[in-house]
Amino acid sequence: MRQKRAKSYRKQMLVYHHNFKFREPYQVLVDDKIVCDTHKASFDLVKGLQRTLQAEVKPMITQCCIQAIYETKNQEAIDLAKTFERRRCNHPPKEAKAPLECLESVVSINGVNKHRYVVASQDPEIRSTLRKVPGVPMIFMNRSVMVMEPLSRSSDKISRDQEKLKLYKGLNDPSLAGKPPVEESKGKASQSSTMPNSSANLKRKGPKGPNPLSIKKKKSDAAPSETKTNAKRASNADSSSGTSSSRRRKRSHKSSGSRQTEQQDNTHVAATNGDHADAGAKSSN
Ligand SMILES: [Zn+2]
Repeated sequence: MRQKRAKSYRKQMLVYHHNFKFREPYQVLVDDKIVCDTHKASFDLVKGLQRTLQAEVKPMITQCCIQAIYETKNQEAIDLAKTFERRRCNHPPKEAKAPLECLESVVSINGVNKHRYVVASQDPEIRSTLRKVPGVPMIFMNRSVMVMEPLSRSSDKISRDQEKLKLYKGLNDPSLAGKPPVEESKGKASQSSTMPNSSANLKRKGPKGPNPLSIKKKKSDAAPSETKTNAKRASNADSSSGTSSSRRRKRSHKSSGSRQTEQQDNTHVAATNGDHADAGAKSSN
């Protein structure tokens, strides 16, 4: 078998294992046609099933299906079928049902694959009928290759729903987490024990934690005198500077002019002082 197919079958059987509780050895219900076809092609049916499911299998056949093989009078096929475990369907052998009807009655109990059968059937009608029952792995011969059908829509939906349920059960209702198998429940219990604590911590943090906006406001209110005056000065400066560039220039001119005059005055004074001093010195000399 090709590696890729083997991997996809393994994955698929994991879904049946986790979501439909299939366990090894898998019980495989074979129909009359697949027994006859594989025998005709000298294909080892049981080995093929083991290879496809990658597990130990328990081949089974219903009374009605073996009755159908008896009617072919193919002795070797009959001998092969006799080695399989007989599944009692409680249909009287003299009024054997058609394999489709018989298999459906055995597999689908109130619409559920209660006994977790894998069905190996060469009849497309049987497979399409049983596809409506969720959780029925289906195997058939495609020419000389044994293949497993992909997960049916009904199976896929159920498995998805179950995954969701598992997820939400564990998170929202810790009391439910202990119910499923031991290992899983342990994992969930530990999760659920940690989850509430963390959520409580989060809740406490919320009100305690600083709201940056409120803190900023309080600070400005707490020290109003300095900041307000500063703010006023700043706003005054802004308004004066922001009025018009021409005024500003004028003012700056004025101020610079006054400064210059002052400086000139100062120098003047200094000079006069110096002159005085010089004069004083001269006079003293
Ligand atoms: Zn039957």
